[in-house]
Amino acid sequence: MATPFVAGNWKMNTTISEAIELARELRPALAGIDGVTRVVCPPLVSLAGVSAEFIGSGIGVGAQNMHSEPKGAFTGEVSGPMLKDICNYVIVGHSERRQILGEQDAFINAKVRAALAVGLTPILCVGETLDQRDANQANSIVAGQIQAGLADLTAGEVAQTVVAYEPIWAIGTGRAATPDMAQEMMAAIRFEVARLSDTETASAVPLLYGGSVNGENSPDLATQADIDGALVGGASLKPDHFAAIARAFAIRA
Ligand code: PEP
Repeated sequence: MATPFVAGNWKMNTTISEAIELARELRPALAGIDGVTRVVCPPLVSLAGVSAEFIGSGIGVGAQNMHSEPKGAFTGEVSGPMLKDICNYVIVGHSERRQILGEQDAFINAKVRAALAVGLTPILCVGETLDQRDANQANSIVAGQIQAGLADLTAGEVAQTVVAYEPIWAIGTGRAATPDMAQEMMAAIRFEVARLSDTETASAVPLLYGGSVNGENSPDLATQADIDGALVGGASLKPDHFAAIARAFAIRA
């Protein structure tokens, strides 16, 4: 079974000093939650400072995005080799980047491969819109995103990735998928990951559910066979809530 895994996506929240303050509150809140990989993804400008706050804590740090090229004329972008010095994870293909910034599957796949090439663990996000779900296209949309996002990876590289299923209609809406609904999709995702690698590899890839996860709904999510953890937005800005979510997934450890 995959190691339980919770990641907090702070999105475009917190100034540098607010991020440091939050990290100082999170460090004791997340201490001693054994057997759960705990990661926070602050804004880029706070990555180095937050990483410094977590030295020796076992809490990992990730970026919210990166470019696929290692360097060059890409004004405003940040590359894998730059991130590698200050963090170990990177969120790739978040729906807000797909929808608002128009990121396409091929670019997202290039980012996944670029992250792995420098030793960063990509957290690949997939998920359908409400219209797609209503049109019974959720499974095919998500399967397509998995196939495209993990294209051209060896089984060894697939084993180094994390996949987050985030139905777009559940992100930031307070309307989480039901545990059964999330489980059904996660099982389908596990099947796709196995097709692209093998069953043993797929069983070890942490599959995260994301979309309005909180301290109340996480215990039920954590009991589902294929939900290894959570990618958390809003609740990750509240240390007690994020810690409660991490504790909920500790039952899988
Ligand atoms: C997210 O930003 O990835 C997310 C799931 O947000 P929220 O938990 O706020 O729905």
